[in-house]
Amino acid sequence: MLPVVALLGRPNVGKSTLFNQLTGTRDALVADTPGLTRDRHYGIGRSGDRPFIVIDTGGMGEAEAPVESLMEQQSLRALEEADVAIFVVDGRQGLTPADEELARAFRRQNKPVVVAVNKAEGQARDAAVAEFHALAMGQPRAISASLGRGIVPLMEEVLSHV
Ligand code: GDP
Ligand code: MG
Repeated sequence: MLPVVALLGRPNVGKSTLFNQLTGTRDALVADTPGLTRDRHYGIGRSGDRPFIVIDTGGMGEAEAPVESLMEQQSLRALEEADVAIFVVDGRQGLTPADEELARAFRRQNKPVVVAVNKAEGQARDAAVAEFHALAMGQPRAISASLGRGIVPLMEEVLSHV
């Protein structure tokens, strides 16, 4: 059985872009429209010589409308399927109340979660990462999914939990 890694987080933080980096495909729908990728989506990635299954999910954490609560349920099911999750957050937007709410939901699942601070290119990386320590989910990792930066150390950390 390959380890299963779920990509979780609010819409538009860069989950599908990270999925494409990890799997080397353009399969996941990358969109400027938040929440467009509504269903789970599976691919195979590789870190060094270790293959893993990666699950992309639609957005979650803005659960007002019925369609959003459906997305949240799908994402929590993805976390149930996974051995470990990457909680993707937006380093440009900074920490949001929705991120904090998601962190609480993830903690209840009792699975290892690694925080990836995306869109961290071209800015003060330490500052971008610092405020996400407040999530109390270990050392946040700065990445740029679109430029493919920080992915190798992120995946080493993620796979150290399985
Ligand atoms: P998702 O809704 O979480 O799956 O987010 P997407 O992968 O669809 O990306 C949402 C938007 O963020 C798109 O416009 C991406 O091009 C952009 N994006 C993703 N990763 C990065 C990154 O590392 N840096 C920057 N600047 N933009 C990014
Ligand atoms: Mg997406």
